[in-house]
Amino acid sequence: MGEFIFPLAQPSIGVVGSKARFPVRRVWCVGRNYLAHVRELGNDERESPLFFSKQPDMLVPGGGAIRYPSQTRNYHYEAELVVALKAGGENIAVADADALIFGHAVGLDMTRRDLQKQMQEKGRPWEAAKSFEQSGPVGPLTPFPGSLPPARIRLSVNGQIRQEADTTQMIWSVPEIISQLSRQVSLGAGDVIFTGTPEGVGAVVKGDRLLAEIDGLEPLAVTIA
Ligand code: MN
Repeated sequence: MGEFIFPLAQPSIGVVGSKARFPVRRVWCVGRNYLAHVRELGNDERESPLFFSKQPDMLVPGGGAIRYPSQTRNYHYEAELVVALKAGGENIAVADADALIFGHAVGLDMTRRDLQKQMQEKGRPWEAAKSFEQSGPVGPLTPFPGSLPPARIRLSVNGQIRQEADTTQMIWSVPEIISQLSRQVSLGAGDVIFTGTPEGVGAVVKGDRLLAEIDGLEPLAVTIA
């Protein structure tokens, strides 16, 4: 391969216990993967779950300050388990999915909820509601062979708990997500998947401090600047 016309950064995520970073190829997200969250947004339970994507450079590795985005007055947090793949493929069997997992992290699927609602009402794509600058804060990856054991997931805003659930409440488990997504696209090493949020989503304003936690993983702290 020849030289590039200009240099371009490779989006990446830190790895717990390593100086090496995880290079990000694609960023996938699962919508409507916890029943109580499907219900709190008034969505049809029969439509769950679904996939959408963010661009790799929209991740905010390690969290920290993120700015309140344009085009919204209802900016929401969604705390999620993130799974990172070291290998991929197409039409992956559920039983084979665990072997593709590199590790897990805590992530936030930040959402322009007002735009999402407008687009849903008009039958338009979600793109602008989900895929925008700094919309994917993600903590460092903890390497782990296969699926994470059942874990509590929680999110607090300014010290007050807003989301608290168990990863076993997912409609689709992580191996099922990997298997289903691999029927839609070809998965590959470097792909990361936000696996959906439980109930309790809500709006943030400038100055809010978010802390997302999952048992066994590094917590993710974010401030809205
Ligand atoms: Mn989400």
